Amino acid sequence: MLCPIIELTKQLIRCPSISPNDAGCQDILINRLKSIGFQVEKININNTKNFWATRRYGKTLAFAGHTDVVHPGDINSWNSFPFDPIIYKDMLFGRGAVDMKGALAAMIVAAERFVKKYPNHKGCLAFLITSDEESSANHGTLKVIERLISRNICLDYCLIGEPTSNIIVGDIVKNGRRGSINVNLIIHGIQGHVAYPNLANNPIHIGVKLLNELICIVWDKGNDFFPPTSIQVTNIKAGDGSTNIIPGNLLIQFNIRFSTELNDVKIRENIDILLSKLQLSYSIEWDVAAQPFLTSSGILIDTVMTTVLQYNKIQPKILNTGGTSDGRFISRTGAQIVELGLVNATIHKINECVRISDLKILSKIYQNIMQQLIA
Ligand SMILES: [Zn+2]
Repeated sequence: MLCPIIELTKQLIRCPSISPNDAGCQDILINRLKSIGFQVEKININNTKNFWATRRYGKTLAFAGHTDVVHPGDINSWNSFPFDPIIYKDMLFGRGAVDMKGALAAMIVAAERFVKKYPNHKGCLAFLITSDEESSANHGTLKVIERLISRNICLDYCLIGEPTSNIIVGDIVKNGRRGSINVNLIIHGIQGHVAYPNLANNPIHIGVKLLNELICIVWDKGNDFFPPTSIQVTNIKAGDGSTNIIPGNLLIQFNIRFSTELNDVKIRENIDILLSKLQLSYSIEWDVAAQPFLTSSGILIDTVMTTVLQYNKIQPKILNTGGTSDGRFISRTGAQIVELGLVNATIHKINECVRISDLKILSKIYQNIMQQLIA
């Protein structure tokens, strides 16, 4: 007998939904959800497709995810065509198999089975799906959340199906993500001839001092849920290659990934103090790409932990490393947020693939979480 989770994953992989294109994925999901009684609202903005689907009322458990995928890269490097799903030795290959069409299929089939068993469930089951998680994310989950907040719709629990697992499904879950700030700093000097340094002011020489202090700052020690805050310099640029000119400006770009021990205001204050201590002439641009968020405790994380232990015989570890996720927008609703998905070993790579048995286990885990929280 055909497995509905595998069939749906394959159907989604066949849609070449390179971000932010949806390429028909959401119509497939919407049809499935409508046929089991979901109310669906499409929220399409420019080239991004989103939908918000709900079934019944009460405490809301939302499953969140994205239909877009990253570019397959060099198609000739793949063993099979990336948008033509193929099963080989218990693995299903195709772009998005893990990130995250497999998880979407697991969620949808879990919802179908749950609704069949508990047609009059006591809480609200919801889906928040976007086609722009992998690119700018400007018109995706952010916009849906803004709309929900404007209507005073609150989410109680949100499970994000991003691929968090390391070796087996559920070995790692996330209950938060770090914040991220990008900084563009230009140090202004005075351009001149290298042979007349007294008539110039070399911004590189000053910049080296600054960089040295910057990378040695101990921001915090992290906490139970986050590693220590870290700074990484991403670019340094000055001059045009001439060997006899002291350049007028030095560009330094850096990124800071910060824990819940800090916030962007404190980070700015510290860097401003350092810049004024060194008496630099500079201009600076800040881009707060994400605030950190954390669900340190609650019924959702407890349910996820016990369900994974029950279904996959492993005690999950909480590890909030890696980049940010759409959870940064969803956290604005005050929802408890947990991320649990497939094994991430091949995400964004050539020959992305998922273990067939993992799809089935993940779907059972999702279904049990629905039963525990809103049946
Ligand atoms: Zn993803």
